[in-house]
Order: sequence, then structure tokens, then C-alpha cells
Amino acid sequence: MTDHRHSALAYIGLGSNLASPRDQLARAMASLAALPVSERVAASSLYASAPVGPQDQPDFINAVVAVRTRLSPLALLDQLQAIEQRHRRVRHRHWGPRTLDLDLLWFAGLNCRFPRLTLPHPEMIHRRFVLEPLAEIAPTLSLGGELPGCLANRLEDQPLQRLSA
Ligand code: AMP
Repeated sequence: MTDHRHSALAYIGLGSNLASPRDQLARAMASLAALPVSERVAASSLYASAPVGPQDQPDFINAVVAVRTRLSPLALLDQLQAIEQRHRRVRHRHWGPRTLDLDLLWFAGLNCRFPRLTLPHPEMIHRRFVLEPLAEIAPTLSLGGELPGCLANRLEDQPLQRLSA
């Protein structure tokens, strides 16, 4: 059980379009539930989205998870990258297919820019496949004064399908 007195809320985006994406996400969800000094507090439904960039690759499966953690933002990023490695993530090209992508979207409302980590994730407000699942589990979260659902509504040109559990 996490000691909530010194824990932070964080949101993590998951995506996969290779090697049985639903299985990849199920395994990643389990790994996120087992993070040290952390507790997974919510998980969105799965969503299917068309790839950003090259279109000659399978659709992505996406989701967002909320954790309460006593890890620092960089220690959490280390954990996320270790999970990606365990999924033997292979990156063939920028924006190309990947077995598992984990993005640290938001951490306790911090705005920061380390060489390895920018918070909030700079692309999240442009991606419906992040905003819709985020709106499902964090409908009142303020992203620069805007709600994830409102930001998502402006991106209806990005096809996205909520999948049944
Ligand atoms: P990508 O695999 O395309 O998501 O990019 C991963 C790279 O982005 C890694 O080198 C990370 O150190 C860096 N990075 C910067 N900010 C973030 C963030 N908020 N979440 C995940 N990776 C980040």
C-alpha cells in the first residue's frame, strides 16, 4: 500500500501496434500495477487509432493509466523505459511501428524540461488517442486551463474507436 502523504498523481499513455497489441497493453497494465512504491489507481478502456505518420502500418491500440507514486518523475521515466525494454521494443523508424510505447503524460501538475523528460508531455494536447482515454479517467484534469474532453472534441478529424473491454 502506498503512503499517500508524499505520493504524486501521474498519468501514463500506452500505445502498441505490433506483436498482438492488446496483449502488449494487458502486460504493460500489469507491469504498471506492480511499479515500486506506487499504486495504479485507474485504467481507461482500450482505443484503436490510425497511426500518426506513415500509414502503411497496423492501427494502434492506446490507453491511459493513472498511478499514485512516491517515485520522482525521472525515476518513474526509468521504470517506464525498463518496461518498454522488457517488451523488447524495436524502433525501426521515427513514428514507425512499435511493440510498446509508454509516455509520461502528466506528473503532479509539474511543468519541467529535463534533457530526458518534458512535462506535461508536449504532444499530448494534439493527440485524440491520448485525450479521449484521459478524459475517461480524469474528466476534470486541467491541461493549461482546458479539459481533456474539450481538447479532444477539437480533434474529431483523428479517427478513434473505443473498444469494448
Ligand atoms: P518516444 O519513444 O518517441 O516516445 O520518445 C522517447 C524519448 O523521449 C526518450 O528519450 C525520453 O527520454 C524522451 N521524453 C521526453 N519527455 C518525455 C515524456 N514526458 N514521456 C516519455 N518520454 C519522454
